Amino acid sequence: FLEIRGLTKHFQSGERKLKVLDSFDLDLAAGEFLAIAGPSGSGKTTLLNLIAGLDRPDGGRISLAGRDLTALNDKEWDKVRQSDIGFVFQFNQLLPEFTALENVMLPGMLKKHHALELKQQAYDLLEHMGMQDRIGHRPAQLSGGERQRTAIARALINQPKILLADEPTGSLDQGTGEQVFSLLMGLQKQFNISCLLVTHNPALANLCDRIHGIEKRPESPTRERIGVDDV
Ligand code: ATP
Repeated sequence: FLEIRGLTKHFQSGERKLKVLDSFDLDLAAGEFLAIAGPSGSGKTTLLNLIAGLDRPDGGRISLAGRDLTALNDKEWDKVRQSDIGFVFQFNQLLPEFTALENVMLPGMLKKHHALELKQQAYDLLEHMGMQDRIGHRPAQLSGGERQRTAIARALINQPKILLADEPTGSLDQGTGEQVFSLLMGLQKQFNISCLLVTHNPALANLCDRIHGIEKRPESPTRERIGVDDV
């Protein structure tokens, strides 16, 4: 369903080129929940950014449901991001001046859903996330766990083909994190959405259908920063 072949991404680090992903391959089946695990700096967030089109690869191919994403122009990317891809970050990026309900509705408004239907769908998703009593609250009036529940509902409002979750429970305490994670997994299974989860938490990774490890490239940025090679 999601097929990644030979994905390569480098960043310039001072004089040197830092190869973060080098000929990286990955397959994700439809409806599969896959954990991406690897040390800090191994390129997990970079990988999600490339799949979401927030950054462009230096080589390789990403295809989603048979469509080559690496060949899309900016306009086509906007459409794919609106319709096919949901994104949840570690620190949710809810808009502070909007209520939980309005935040969830927002991506649907960009896609020009019928307003009443959209409101109902947003409400249903928030209810699923146990947020029915909080729909009129602004992010500052919500707890960290409630904000992440809202962010997950928002990521699902357009019924994406794939959900990309970058440490979605990383900012929460263990108990709240586990609750939010099991709500996320419940919705993912119910809607049969493919999900790629980046996590440092082995307990959560073990709950996924499969774990795919990313190794850190030998020419690590730390070595470069402290100039180990020059000593
Ligand atoms: P963590 O687990 O700490 O979040 P990660 O596996 O998600 O790490 P990335 O955020 O993908 O790692 O970063 C991989 C490497 O690429 C890091 O060494 C980082 O410093 C570097 N990097 C990421 N984005 C850029 C950028 N825009 N410019 C230069 N270097 C970058």
